[in-house]
Amino acid sequence: MEREENHMSAPASARVNAQAGAAPKKVHFVSLGCPKNLVDGEIMLGNLMQDGYVVTDDSSEADTVVVNTCGFIDDAKKESISKILEMAELKKTGHLKKLVVAGCLTQRYKHDLVDGLPEADVFIGSGEFQNISRILRDEESGAGKKTYFNLPTYLQEENTPRVNSQPKHTAYLKISEGCLKRCAFCAIPKIRGNLQSRRLPAIVGEARLLVAGGVRELNVVSHDFTDFGWDLRRKGAGAVERPEALLAALADIDGLDWVRVLYLYPDGVSDEMIELIKTRPKLVKYFDMPLQHISDAVLKRMNRHMTCEEITERLGKIRAEIPEAVIRTQFIVGFPGETEEDFQELLRFVKEQRFDRVGCFIYSPEDNTPAGGFGDQVDEAVKQRRHDELMEAQMEISREKHRAFIGRVVPVLVEGLSEETDLLLQGRMSQQAPDIDGVVYINDGQAEIGQIVNVRITDAHDYDLVGAIV
Ligand code: SF4
Repeated sequence: MEREENHMSAPASARVNAQAGAAPKKVHFVSLGCPKNLVDGEIMLGNLMQDGYVVTDDSSEADTVVVNTCGFIDDAKKESISKILEMAELKKTGHLKKLVVAGCLTQRYKHDLVDGLPEADVFIGSGEFQNISRILRDEESGAGKKTYFNLPTYLQEENTPRVNSQPKHTAYLKISEGCLKRCAFCAIPKIRGNLQSRRLPAIVGEARLLVAGGVRELNVVSHDFTDFGWDLRRKGAGAVERPEALLAALADIDGLDWVRVLYLYPDGVSDEMIELIKTRPKLVKYFDMPLQHISDAVLKRMNRHMTCEEITERLGKIRAEIPEAVIRTQFIVGFPGETEEDFQELLRFVKEQRFDRVGCFIYSPEDNTPAGGFGDQVDEAVKQRRHDELMEAQMEISREKHRAFIGRVVPVLVEGLSEETDLLLQGRMSQQAPDIDGVVYINDGQAEIGQIVNVRITDAHDYDLVGAIV
């Protein structure tokens, strides 16, 4: 659910292949939103490059710009619209011929978006993105339409062309589409549909191909990892498709160092899953478990199927089995009907549990969600105050947890020169997921990009750590 902007570029080898043809078309690609949307964007790029397009980082030299939008919450929608309008400005130079709008926002608002954005030429929903090159060819031949919407039923195969937009040593691995749950605040099932899991052999096959291409770290993404395979098992179509079986299979891949699973609904974190993460060295001891709230009354209204007691039991089990486990979570404050008492319960819980990392969203009513129609919406100023109070409490906890790393030697995956200064290297511990957590700055020692080295931590900031290679 984390959002960010990715200007996607292609690996050098892919550029050379595409440039072998005459006057290749240049595409600039912007992907917004979560890693699941990013993987769809990478498949679009693979599809376009197979058709002879070359990717350019410079939007001003592109004939075609694709904005892969996010439509999850208000801020994400605004960011998507403003990026589309920014890219539309390029048409004034006469160079940009086609502005393509794809992704979740397109799927969610379909014709409303088309009516509101005459600047864009083609709209491709989440059920058609895999056909982008054919769509653009039809456009060119005059046989095209302006809109391409369909049910989001597409699942990639193990060898579907895909351009990994991440540094060579890391990649996201998408295991399913849609979501089985029906949280009252969430529009995802409306946008992405019901859960559809990929077949386990296809996922493991794709993981092996990524590792053969130099990937050392995989981040497994879906809307809820713990439901993986439920749809296939229910149809009697997938005996092996279980989250635990997938973890075990990924943990056996030679050449892979770290497997990190993102987004675990707490009721699906089974004892077997905890045992696997505890005992298999490649499975990173990192639990990304969005809890959303802790008051039973709010959880019930959110249509979350766990109580405070059950959640506390699961957290206790993880910590008892894996004391070094890093636990990241996310909460929503200001959900309709959240009383001051509910919020204080949440605040107490955050202080008691001492999570390693906490994200906090201010609730915003979403179209076509049950909670959007609830009557007892919380005042905006109250929501903001609750958000600030919760984040302030967590900041102190995060600082203390970071300071506890000083003096420890930890393995760090080196990612390249620091984004702050060329004088430092930058990397991540296995406890730091890409894009959402902090980094480790390395101020002494040399290493290759993609290498895992031991770093002694010497300093700690609010989000990042500093250390030297030993
Ligand atoms: S688990 Fe709930 S919040 Fe997460 S994607 Fe599914 S419906 Fe949305």
